[in-house]
Amino acid sequence: MLRVDKFLHDMNVGTRTQIRKLTRDGQISVNGEAVKSGRVKIDPDQDEVQLSGEVVQYQKHFYFIVNKPIGVLTATEDRKQKTVMELFNKNDRRPDLFPVGRLDKNTEGLLLITNNGEIGHRLLSPEHHVDKVYEATVTGQISEGAAAKFANGLTLKDGTQLKPAGLKVKEYSNLEKTTTVEVTISEGKYHQVRRMFGALGERVLRLRRVKFGPLELDVGLLPGHYRALTDEEIVNLE
Ligand code: URA
Repeated sequence: MLRVDKFLHDMNVGTRTQIRKLTRDGQISVNGEAVKSGRVKIDPDQDEVQLSGEVVQYQKHFYFIVNKPIGVLTATEDRKQKTVMELFNKNDRRPDLFPVGRLDKNTEGLLLITNNGEIGHRLLSPEHHVDKVYEATVTGQISEGAAAKFANGLTLKDGTQLKPAGLKVKEYSNLEKTTTVEVTISEGKYHQVRRMFGALGERVLRLRRVKFGPLELDVGLLPGHYRALTDEEIVNLE
């Protein structure tokens, strides 16, 4: 059970002041009866709340894909630096949203943001093996032999043994002396992709996540922009 004013605020129908005014004006009803006070308790799964005669749908969980730009922190708040939460419009920026996993400050691309703690936890658990796909530009010429090393489970410079990973060599630039690759990993160790190329004696110059489990970054979603997941994407995630 929760207060009807809290329910309306959670469903983003307006500010607390606006909701107070709507209540005073008799615009809010519960199961067909106008309520005079925001303190009235409701069960969002059972009771029907209407605002000016329109049913306010109850949504418990929210899911967004953010295309994180370079230079923004994967955090809910930071005293000095801009966080991914600051990319949200006021209406969508709920205090219970959090990023699922993290991308380094200098990594761009797909980040899932939700208020569903259970799913967040599950997607990050080692047993779950969610594949993450990255596009990277790395120094030097990466050979097909490197793909075999990735597939066998690379050992990092500090001795960390990794699970098998995928590596597709896309293009070598003779001019830049760099290679563009696609890397698929199922773990999420600190700076993992950068350290994987470090183990080959190379450096990652650009890193962008394009897939996270069943989610794919849309071509049209520009860095710094976000969108809600579709119903189908939510079903696939659950
Ligand atoms: N691997 C990295 O090195 N950095 C990221 O942000 C993600 C994966």
